[in-house]
Amino acid sequence: MYLDNSATTKISSEVLEEMLPYLKDEFGNPSTLYSVGRESKKALEEARQRIADSINAKKDEIIFTSGGSESDNLAIKGVAFKLQKKGKHIITSEIEHPAVKETLHFLESLDFKVTYLPVYENGIIKIDDLKEAITPETILITIMHGNNEIGTLQPIEEIGKIARENKILFHTDAVQTFGKVEVDVEKQNIDLLSVSSHKINGPKGVGAIYIKKGVRLVPLIHGGGQERGIRSGTENVAGIVGFGKAAELACSQLDEHAEKLSKIRDEIIEKVLDTIPESYLNGDRDQRLPNVINFRFKAIEGESLILLLDAKGYQTSTGSACSSKTLEASPVLTALGLDPVDVHGSLRISLAPESGEFDIDEFVEAIAQSVERLRKMSPLWNNDLDYNKIVGRE
Ligand SMILES: *Cc1c(COP(=O)(O)O)cnc(C)c1O
Repeated sequence: MYLDNSATTKISSEVLEEMLPYLKDEFGNPSTLYSVGRESKKALEEARQRIADSINAKKDEIIFTSGGSESDNLAIKGVAFKLQKKGKHIITSEIEHPAVKETLHFLESLDFKVTYLPVYENGIIKIDDLKEAITPETILITIMHGNNEIGTLQPIEEIGKIARENKILFHTDAVQTFGKVEVDVEKQNIDLLSVSSHKINGPKGVGAIYIKKGVRLVPLIHGGGQERGIRSGTENVAGIVGFGKAAELACSQLDEHAEKLSKIRDEIIEKVLDTIPESYLNGDRDQRLPNVINFRFKAIEGESLILLLDAKGYQTSTGSACSSKTLEASPVLTALGLDPVDVHGSLRISLAPESGEFDIDEFVEAIAQSVERLRKMSPLWNNDLDYNKIVGRE
């Protein structure tokens, strides 16, 4: 049972089918004029239209990149370098993905000033904090749509409205929400938006950035002038074709999948909180992605829990795939104001449409057994407490 779909997803067979011709006979360079190149160009533009349609953008507002990280870098550095004469202040949240956070750290080393808005216990920024943080020097607000670790959703429509009222550009990292909840660049007042293919059952190494018509930025990669000069380099045609198909599939079934997944999500949350003592949900109960759950269990270590669950056939994670190699406490969970000891006992479960049919009771029982086993060994857990009594199982 693969339950780590916030880290990456399995490529769908329909997506792979569409890609294959562009890895074989349709190998032409989309920038050339003869027929084999024309086919590639056509496929590229069809994929661009599909991505544009799925976020209510126009085709020429979509630029293909190598993924979410590049799109985040391009949006933030591109705007910062373009507008630095106007001001050097950027507003973000405390729980951004490293692709945003580290880019901002880099800009700080170049004398940009960054305000990190707190997210409080529920993992969501407050609009009043945002309003207060704005200065005449502010050139960009970059706040993610859905968080990759805890799954909380930020009020991006309101953020976008405030950005627009103050004539500040608004970028959002929508890598986790694209194809899962509504993303509409017009309605949500978005100027720049990052998406990635491999989080929605597409291939890895491809993504896109939406750049609202009229927004100017400095490119990161200079060269032959592909992608309207904003991102040079011969396009990853097969990857882009796959991304276009994956976006179309995800967005055409968005409501159906969201409904199905949020039902499973809610059942798991309810059952875990009901049966396992000292278990908590990280992040807001309702303002969250339909497919992401993040629990916290007192007195255990998330890494050990992941291993026990893996042995029982469930692949889960502690949160961010990017920080699991370092033993550092998750900055996202720390930002919720949790006790540093509690931060280590986290478990992220991220579902995908294809993880549909599985026995939720069996899964919850597997978590309960594993947590109990770890607590028996934990010096932080009071072993005199009778677990069965606590959960009301005589
Ligand atoms: C995965 C992820 C990224 C990075 O996307 P890549 O395509 O892997 O570079 C950026 N932001 C968020 C929120 C993500 O979940």
